[in-house]
Amino acid sequence: HSKEQGRNSICFFSPAQHEATLSRYRIAGLLQQALDNDEFHMVYQPQIEVDSGKLIGVEALIRWYSPQLGQVSPEVFIPVAEDAGLIEAVGYWALEQSIAETMKWLEKGLELKISVNFSARQFQRGEVASRLLALLNKYQLPAELFVVELTETCFVHSAEATECELVRLREHGVRIAIDDFGTGFSSLSYIRNMSLDMIKIDRSFISQINAENSGGRLVQAMIDMSHAMELEVVAEGVESAQDLAVLKQLGCDMAQGYHIARPMTASDLEGWAMSYEPGQASG
Ligand code: C2E
Ligand code: MG
Ligand code: MG
Ligand code: MG
Repeated sequence: HSKEQGRNSICFFSPAQHEATLSRYRIAGLLQQALDNDEFHMVYQPQIEVDSGKLIGVEALIRWYSPQLGQVSPEVFIPVAEDAGLIEAVGYWALEQSIAETMKWLEKGLELKISVNFSARQFQRGEVASRLLALLNKYQLPAELFVVELTETCFVHSAEATECELVRLREHGVRIAIDDFGTGFSSLSYIRNMSLDMIKIDRSFISQINAENSGGRLVQAMIDMSHAMELEVVAEGVESAQDLAVLKQLGCDMAQGYHIARPMTASDLEGWAMSYEPGQASG
């Protein structure tokens, strides 16, 4: 019956679907051009130690200004790049740019850890470790300053290949963080068995820690669980002094969010770091 239906009915896209498909094609086409024309840049968001307020590092976030489309969010174009087979090129560009800029800061006496986001797709070809280690070597950036951020999806889709790459990176001193923790599908056993150093609690949980529900206890449990596995905990999306104060009580290690600072260009970050005083974020 359903077969019959499938044969006889024509599948119409709704106008919205049609629009979305069209724009995905359009974005995919423009992405190739963006790579050729240098339309990307990186911004950096500070990460502080919760206890001391000390600036520890930054997360690198890609930005695309398209002459045709204007500013396009990475939430929109990263998935398109993944489907269009362009994520390796885009990801490699982001990686090299982040390493080069971190090295420039280091040469000026500003030592920052750099966290870079990776897509699950980048791990499927099994060349991530080699390419990353080659770049660290090219720029002479100490591997200890580098953090790979990946999401739980990486472990679900190609767990063994991913694990293999992570082990190799960690042998060289690179650290590994799970991003958006709590939103994916990873089980405790994954987390326990994979080669990891840090967990980044997704901002959807952090936004609830001051609400009148179990939000605070949930984050407490995530922090305690991570510490039990000897993982460092970073809170994402810290938007108020009150959030930060609660995280301090809960024993969270690091924090990142608009309350501390928004993502900035490399040169703005330099100025910000120069005038930043530990303690000012907690007010
Ligand atoms: P993410 O890695 O979880 O990055 C955190 C996102 O939260 C960033 O959005 C950041 O600007 C935003 N954010 C930071 N603090 C706050 C806050 O206090 N409140 C709120 N509401 N948001 C905050 P952005 O830059 O738009 O990036 C979105 C996502 O795109 C990233 O999520 C990451 O998954 C992906 N992405 C960004 N850059 C890259 C990249 O170079 N490579 C790959 N593969 N993905 C990237
Ligand atoms: Mg991230
Ligand atoms: Mg995140
Ligand atoms: Mg995210």
